[in-house]
Amino acid sequence: MGRNDPCWCRSGRKWKHCHLGRDKQQPRNINDLLNAIGQEQARGYSCVHPDAGTGTCSGGPTDAHTIQKEGGLRAIAENGHVISSKKGAFSIGRNDGRIIPQRDGIGNASTFPGFCNTHDAMFSPAEQKIVPLSREVAFLLSYRAIAYEKFLKESALRSNGLHRQEADKGRPFAEQADIQTVLYAEKCGFELGLADLTRSKAAFDVAYRASYAGFDFLAVEFDSVLPVVSCGAFFPDFDFFGQPLQSLASAALAAIAVNLAVLNERSVLFFGWIGDSGPAEAFASSYARLPQAEKANAAVRLAIEYIENTYCRPGWWNGLPQALRGGLAASFFTMSAPAVFRRGADGLCLDGKIFATASVSRELP
Ligand SMILES: [Zn+2]
Ligand SMILES: [Zn+2]
Repeated sequence: MGRNDPCWCRSGRKWKHCHLGRDKQQPRNINDLLNAIGQEQARGYSCVHPDAGTGTCSGGPTDAHTIQKEGGLRAIAENGHVISSKKGAFSIGRNDGRIIPQRDGIGNASTFPGFCNTHDAMFSPAEQKIVPLSREVAFLLSYRAIAYEKFLKESALRSNGLHRQEADKGRPFAEQADIQTVLYAEKCGFELGLADLTRSKAAFDVAYRASYAGFDFLAVEFDSVLPVVSCGAFFPDFDFFGQPLQSLASAALAAIAVNLAVLNERSVLFFGWIGDSGPAEAFASSYARLPQAEKANAAVRLAIEYIENTYCRPGWWNGLPQALRGGLAASFFTMSAPAVFRRGADGLCLDGKIFATASVSRELP
């Protein structure tokens, strides 16, 4: 290549500033790289409240909890700790490239730099000692889940950029090409996901300003505290009976927000979405049609397998058979999930394992 040509890796940089001599560069140690990614992910965000940008922010965003620390994380913690797969993802350098869920303190778990102090107060109705199962609370939890997933995609894109400049240092050209091909595909996937979440977040912003018009939810309260809490969102491709909902290759995907929270000392599963008759509503309504006795187990499995921002009670997690724990961790990489966690073509797990039981005490609306 000419020194000033755009680099073959599609970084947009000139070759001389990008891959020229990459095979002779000093490779970065994996732990170093993970630290750099952690730092990259932690800086440079601004408040994402619907009114941010109108001069009402009190400075930059602070670390906000996506799951209530006192009611939620504390309810499943032991000695102030929970089990976190996200924490495990940052230790793959010490675990042979495997994600092994790890203990994390409830002060650190599940935070993100999303809202300034003033605007973080928008969530206070969902943070009280007694929290009503109301439309407002369902909206606020769902809103935070969507904002959090959008943040995750933004930070994933940033670490992808860092990876593309670092991961192939010192490797021969053929390996560089393989690595860059995978990372470029990953970047395209993150960009598509971010575009869909940006659209979802904008729709939630509109609903916020219109007193939650257009917002719909399902809340299912259990009679006890389940061993898992979770907050996130995803694009449902199959419902709970294996019926297809949307192709993940379609142009604009519909997101559903999921919160497995603890309110008033009971676990409550919230689904929240915008718009009628779409894949998100169909997903929630298929959950509502599950036999009552299966709902707690389905909630726990959904959180563990679909939502990254999920935390478990240590005693419960450590008490699971090793095959199940290993299988769960491996199922984070769906391509190589072991038999115990394999899915059918309809997206349903084939193992029939029961992780949790509880009775449904209330269902809203
Ligand atoms: Zn390059
Ligand atoms: Zn703000």
